[in-house]
Amino acid sequence: MGRSVTFLPVPLVRPQEPEPGPALVAPEPAPAAPRRTAGARPALVDGFGRVHRDLRISLTDRCSLRCLYCMPAEGVPWLPKDTLLTTPEMARIARAAVAAGVREIRLTGGEPLLRPDVVDVVAALAELRAPDDAPDAGTPVELSLTTNGLALPRVAQRLVDAGLARVNISIDTLDRERFATLTRRDRLDDVIAGIDAALAAGLAPVKLNAVAMRGVNDDEIVALTRFAVERGCEMRFIEQMPLDAGHVWDRVEMVDGQEILDVLAREFTLTPVGERGAAPAEKFLLDDGPATVGVIASVTAPFCGSCDRVRLTADGYLRSCLFAREETDLRSVVRSGADDDAIDAALRTCLAGKKAGHGIGEPGFEQPDRPMSAIGG
Ligand code: SAM
Ligand code: SF4
Repeated sequence: MGRSVTFLPVPLVRPQEPEPGPALVAPEPAPAAPRRTAGARPALVDGFGRVHRDLRISLTDRCSLRCLYCMPAEGVPWLPKDTLLTTPEMARIARAAVAAGVREIRLTGGEPLLRPDVVDVVAALAELRAPDDAPDAGTPVELSLTTNGLALPRVAQRLVDAGLARVNISIDTLDRERFATLTRRDRLDDVIAGIDAALAAGLAPVKLNAVAMRGVNDDEIVALTRFAVERGCEMRFIEQMPLDAGHVWDRVEMVDGQEILDVLAREFTLTPVGERGAAPAEKFLLDDGPATVGVIASVTAPFCGSCDRVRLTADGYLRSCLFAREETDLRSVVRSGADDDAIDAALRTCLAGKKAGHGIGEPGFEQPDRPMSAIGG
């Protein structure tokens, strides 16, 4: 029997003066100098001193599944096609973010692999490097993807060839009927084929995500973990968040991170792994490793104090938090022909409004209008 493990909530950082980022290169004294496009800019620091290094880009709001905690069965009002960012528009925003210190980009959705040009998106973003005048000049951006896995057998190798480094694949149950009920599609075998395709294509690590749900899959915590270990994948359990399209999330019903850990600790010895940093998952070695399991307790042990993420929706709105009620319209900025200074300014405007925490459970908390599938998880 393993020992019991408890979460330590990440403390909120106190407001402080934004730290200056890498210095701008002083332009040569030439009145008609071309506009700066690639120089390092100050770091993206919010009002609480949090430096933003991680950009999540939603490639589409559409999906091949209909998970109960994310999308309604039908009647989804899709984003109009002409509002979706094109690949060059997306790459331009990403380049501005990289100039300001972003070093990780995760592609998500909706189901990102439904985007017909997903390989081109990966290829365009994989070219991004830290600017020449940044302290880490030339460092490539770390590119990852979160997917339901269905299209991986078709596209995994091309994604790797285009520059994708890592993948997270969602799998909430190993039971075919449950899977069909939970996702409203009978596709469990295809997800498993997707996991195998990701491994065969050399994506590493392959992380498996499961949202823990009472009476749905809370009896599969150990089985899912063993399934991941057998394949050499890392299992991640996620607390369900109030981001469902139906707005029926109930805190009382939620399987919390502590409960997940208690179940795991009855089966495995759990040893906390290193510093969590800005990572959402609290990681543990299973039976002294090398396999690990992670628990993302976004609701009961929020990691807002060390959050370094900012999100771009498929239609070009920037969100400082999954739960933000305000968005910054970057699509209009990009389509107006504005220069990189304007994109940089819009990034900073968005982060200036970032709240200290997500506020779930606090009086006045309101679920965002966009469901998870339209924000980008
Ligand atoms: N379609 C892809 C997938 O399912 O992996 C990417 C998008 S999905 C929104 C990203 C992640 O968010 C998935 O791991 C999914 O399980 C998780 N997710 C969706 N709705 C959630 C909710 N209400 N609470 C917690 N996690 C959620
Ligand atoms: Fe689709 Fe992912 Fe949402 Fe499931 S969690 S409905 S796979 S976007």
